[in-house]
Amino acid sequence: MEQTPRFYFFYIMRKITKIIVHCADTPEGRNDTAEDIRRWHKARGFNDIGYHYVVDLDGTIEPGRDVTIAGAHATGHNADSIGICYIGGADTDMKPKDTRTEEQKTALRLLLKYLVQKYPGAKIYGHRDFANKSCPSFDAITEYKELCE
Ligand SMILES: [Zn+2]
Repeated sequence: MEQTPRFYFFYIMRKITKIIVHCADTPEGRNDTAEDIRRWHKARGFNDIGYHYVVDLDGTIEPGRDVTIAGAHATGHNADSIGICYIGGADTDMKPKDTRTEEQKTALRLLLKYLVQKYPGAKIYGHRDFANKSCPSFDAITEYKELCE
């Protein structure tokens, strides 16, 4: 007797062990958004924005790629991480600079606090902790240390 094929659709839940903070590497004061980053990343051949969250200059937290899907933001660390990115991170000469507005600092802390609660055991890093880069232009491990305790 012929078997009827059966298909099972399911999500493989990603195990999140790292929350990685990035900057957009955009000049101080320029008001880019998640939609701009999505466009740049698609132009680089990604099928979507590489980050899961984007924090705008005014502190708005925009969703990027769905968190159930691995991002494209930290080579070798995408499978088990969430990538968040704040707009800015460079001065007007495009040198690395912590350009976070007070609103961005508040929003980042709020978002990170939410994520470490949602993914117990996950640790917060900056992109620079995994690559020879200045991104996110500040020391995320030290700044957010107490959120992981
Ligand atoms: Zn980065």
